Amino acid sequence: MKSFELYEPTTVQDAVGMLDKFGATGKAVGGGSDLIGGIMKDWVTGKGMPIPVQVVDLTTIPDLKGIKLSSDGAHIGATTTLTEVIEHADLQNTYPLLTAAALSIASPLIRNFGTLGGNINQRPRCWFFRGEDFNCYKKGGDFCYSVTGDNRYHAIIGGELCYIVHPSDTATALLALNASANLSGPQGNRTVPFDQYFHGPREDVLTENVLKPNEVMTEVIIPTPAQGTKMAWTKLKDRQVYDFALVSVAAAFTVDGSGNWQDGRITLGGVAPVPYRAQVVEDALKGKNVQQTIKQAAAQIRTVARPMSLNAYKVDIAQGLIERTVLQALG
Ligand SMILES: Cc1cc2nc3c(=O)[nH]c(=O)nc-3n(C[C@H](O)[C@H](O)[C@H](O)COP(=O)(O)OP(=O)(O)OC[C@H]3O[C@@H](n4cnc5c(N)ncnc54)[C@H](O)[C@@H]3O)c2cc1C
Ligand code: SF4
Repeated sequence: MKSFELYEPTTVQDAVGMLDKFGATGKAVGGGSDLIGGIMKDWVTGKGMPIPVQVVDLTTIPDLKGIKLSSDGAHIGATTTLTEVIEHADLQNTYPLLTAAALSIASPLIRNFGTLGGNINQRPRCWFFRGEDFNCYKKGGDFCYSVTGDNRYHAIIGGELCYIVHPSDTATALLALNASANLSGPQGNRTVPFDQYFHGPREDVLTENVLKPNEVMTEVIIPTPAQGTKMAWTKLKDRQVYDFALVSVAAAFTVDGSGNWQDGRITLGGVAPVPYRAQVVEDALKGKNVQQTIKQAAAQIRTVARPMSLNAYKVDIAQGLIERTVLQALG
């Protein structure tokens, strides 16, 4: 691995100032499991993606760590580790969906130092993107190797130009929980709902979200769920010890006294370049008895799926997993 300069700021303002000064060769780091252990060690580079020279460690900033629950919901600092998220009793009680999603990530070792901010902002796992010999669109090149290559793990929804699937399990769960991210940059702070945080390749193929290179994600805010909200998380993976999602589903919704869908979200991971909100399924459930309608509503995912040559199997999994997750949430 190429050597790099490590910076250890103690305030968000200093970190932002450093990133602003370093430009394209500067990178924020949380636990480093993706940036250092993946991107930099494996030399994942291209003309739109230089190997970082200056690495700005965010874990030396005390303000970025910790979990607080208040009247408006939960505030989780971006450098809080995944294990700290999993072990927090109030989060377990109020947002069991997030706990389950975080627990399904990687291995205990990675969860012990991988941070929430790092998990949300990790780069995609497309094997062409991670291979140093493939200068694809996402690295500033002029080709997508998944179109003619092995695309068994690629997108079945919303892929054009680039067919990655968003790798973050917490992002899928946070989207279902209607969460937002606080970002801090040279121009000040801004709050971006996760509905608007991620973008597909058509908006910008080089990035997966709206975070600017000189911005830091400082915290995630999850609103307090409505009384009686039902939640569940399921994730299907190839290798059971640890693996990224073939397909994952997060459901958070309310029903009325007759079991009819009132409000809520169903989101999917492993299927699209962004954590995907399955509005076609939600629409099919609106006002209807969830138990009786879910089978037919889950099938609506087929109307938006455009599988590639080797991944049509994911459409069946998505349909089945949506049904299973919603029924699990109903208990
Ligand atoms: C073997 C293995 C298996 C894995 N399995 C899964 C899985 O099943 N599900 C899953 O979701 N993930 C999985 N991951 C990914 C893992 O969860 C992430 O690597 C980890 O959560 C990232 O956290 P980190 O703090 O180490 O990130 P880092 O490597 O520090 O950062 C990742 C990226 O986010 C940026 N970043 C980090 N924090 C901030 C911030 N606060 N503000 C702005 N930018 C920031 C960095 O610049 C970098 O680009 C796996 C990883 C490995 C190595
Ligand atoms: S899917 Fe995206 S990341 Fe993968 S090869 Fe195609 S352009 Fe590159």
